[in-house]
Amino acid sequence: MAQVVIALGSNLGDRKSHLSNARRFLSDMSTDPLVASSIYETEPVGEASTHSYFNAVCCMRTMLPPLELLEQLKQYEQRYGRDPSAPRWANRTIDLDIIDYDRQIISQQRLHVPHPEYDKRLFVLQPLSEIFFFFFDFRSGQSINSLIATAPKIEVFKTRVIW
Ligand code: ATP
Ligand code: CA
Ligand code: CA
Repeated sequence: MAQVVIALGSNLGDRKSHLSNARRFLSDMSTDPLVASSIYETEPVGEASTHSYFNAVCCMRTMLPPLELLEQLKQYEQRYGRDPSAPRWANRTIDLDIIDYDRQIISQQRLHVPHPEYDKRLFVLQPLSEIFFFFFDFRSGQSINSLIATAPKIEVFKTRVIW
């Protein structure tokens, strides 16, 4: 059974509903109760994106191998209105990224784990530190607090949105 960390993001339409629905989907796939962070609000990143984001992180357990899990996530994104031909970082209803898969290093054309950018993204690190206070990068040994301290500064606010 693999322990998997997924990052969720939405910056189009009813962002809270998009995150709640995705959370239910992950929960249904998880063999154990899902652990979920609060929702964080984040300024948009990249030129193709213009609306602010709702972001969160969830931890699940699954028997699905990594590429099958990725396929499930991509199918879900497409079912819920994400345009697969839109440019990277475009506005999107829902984005589901695999941040960590059972502390494995996966380097395949379609899947890189740990997610190559996670340690530079405060909108991932802050919710992650909320659910895994003792998280550390298993490659560098850096603690989550040290990752947060060195990540590029962007505005990320913890919200009180119930989801
Ligand atoms: P970023 O990956 O920088 O957050 P993005 O989420 O906007 O950008 P997408 O368009 O959602 O990028 O995904 C592009 C491709 O990235 C996907 O088709 C997928 O095959 C690949 N990919 C590689 N590693 C991962 C991962 N850890 N989680 C999700 N997708 C990944
Ligand atoms: Ca992403
Ligand atoms: Ca993605």
